Amino acid sequence: MALNVIIASPEAIPFAKTGGLADVAGALPAALKKLGCRVALFMPLYREVRDKGFKAESTGISLNIPLGRRTITAELFRGENRGIPVYFIKRDEYFDRTYLYTTPDGDYFDNLERFTFFSRALIEAAVALNLRPDVIHCNDWQTGLVPAYIKSIYAPSFHQTATLFTIHNIAYQGLFPTSFFDVTGLPSGIYNPEGIEYWGKMNLLKSGIVYSDIVTTVSEGYSREIQTPEFGCGLDGILKKRSGSLFGVLNGVDYSEWNPETDPFIAKNYSSADLGGKSACKKDILKEYSLDITPAEPLIGIISRLADQKGFDILSEAMDEIMGLPLGMVVLGTGEKKYHQLFEKLSKKYPGKLGVKVKFDNSLAHKIEAGCDIFLMPSRYEPCGLNQMYSLRYGTIPVVRKTGGLDDTIRDYAGGAGNGFKFAEYSPPALVNKVKEALGVYNERKAWEKLEKKAMQEDFSWNMSAKRYVELYNLAVKNKRKEPVPETPFKKTAN
Ligand code: ADP
Repeated sequence: MALNVIIASPEAIPFAKTGGLADVAGALPAALKKLGCRVALFMPLYREVRDKGFKAESTGISLNIPLGRRTITAELFRGENRGIPVYFIKRDEYFDRTYLYTTPDGDYFDNLERFTFFSRALIEAAVALNLRPDVIHCNDWQTGLVPAYIKSIYAPSFHQTATLFTIHNIAYQGLFPTSFFDVTGLPSGIYNPEGIEYWGKMNLLKSGIVYSDIVTTVSEGYSREIQTPEFGCGLDGILKKRSGSLFGVLNGVDYSEWNPETDPFIAKNYSSADLGGKSACKKDILKEYSLDITPAEPLIGIISRLADQKGFDILSEAMDEIMGLPLGMVVLGTGEKKYHQLFEKLSKKYPGKLGVKVKFDNSLAHKIEAGCDIFLMPSRYEPCGLNQMYSLRYGTIPVVRKTGGLDDTIRDYAGGAGNGFKFAEYSPPALVNKVKEALGVYNERKAWEKLEKKAMQEDFSWNMSAKRYVELYNLAVKNKRKEPVPETPFKKTAN
């Protein structure tokens, strides 16, 4: 029997994106469909979706969503992506905004209301559309209430439905004051330390972890790390309790989006059989950033959210030494103001060698992947990381810190054995030494070309990961259906 799956995500390409989750939610549904699942994707109808010109049409269905003492109407719109129906929850007051969750000055004040509304609306929509999902696959704190709803007030209609909750980054938990608990409409029994409460606050990520049937995160390495105090961001205890139901599934790469042979954004296409076009791509990016290094000098690329997680504190300390080497660097990123300022200052200090663009620009991201020689990801922690895998396919050799998904996907060069360069200690000298080691190999042209070709032939496609999700969906359904059919709303607390 084909599994009926709903993917609930606060972002998905090609419609709206702030990070890796959008890439996953955009590509996974099609990979699941190939494996015989019936899939529907649910996300909010943001301004960005309309600005990008995507067609979404009204289904004519209006949903009345209880939100605290009020009842608020959601309109249900429908679009499509790669043959997958995409249902958009429309409520302009909540989603017709410049950003998705956070402005440069901080989070939107009403994020609890916005994403409680989204979570409840998608459940109501599933009822209205008679979708009868076997599994609802929820992603990140914005959908963390869905498993709690399915196990409580919606249990009678969804006793056949299992939930799988994926943590894309445990540092973002959706913490809100308890005084707003009523907004959720959940039974008060849920508000306890075994449930949604976290040190006197509501924690929506914790809700997803506690009430889902299966929890996953986006690499094996990260699934182990988050069970330790160092990486668990306070949730390591609760994750350890659920370790029997916690799995790591590496994100896949969508090679129809990220492939130098077909990429429409880059100056010239190329392949592992003929890398000729890569030098045209390098020239193009040097021009774009007005750098004046020679074409033979190595070019390092960074594409990143500008956040503490990504290693910019050690990088900023290492920059003087790195910029003293014969190389150039291009940076593309948005995020915290302190890093905007830091990189703008550095680019003035190293004109012609360091180019910085503070914006979100997908086509430029593709050009950087194609035009650079080395891709740098010195992350403090990294749940999965996608850019290191994109870089491999473009023959742009990753230099990464040994953590989470970076550790799972990149093997250190070690005289030719690996597919990139990996340093362990989170420190500026360890970073500089690895960059120097990479430059050493770059200068041995034959060894570098061999490394480029090898990197380009690695396969991180969705096939394997999507199969793993299907196995876990089946496991979730099996476990869930062993539970007694609920007669009344929520009684039990966490398992
Ligand atoms: P995270 O989800 O932590 O931000 P990932 O490596 O998993 O990190 O995914 C980041 C995704 O966002 C990649 O597809 C990357 O290319 C993209 N990205 C990040 N910053 C930018 C930017 N400023 N412009 C364009 N794409 C970006």
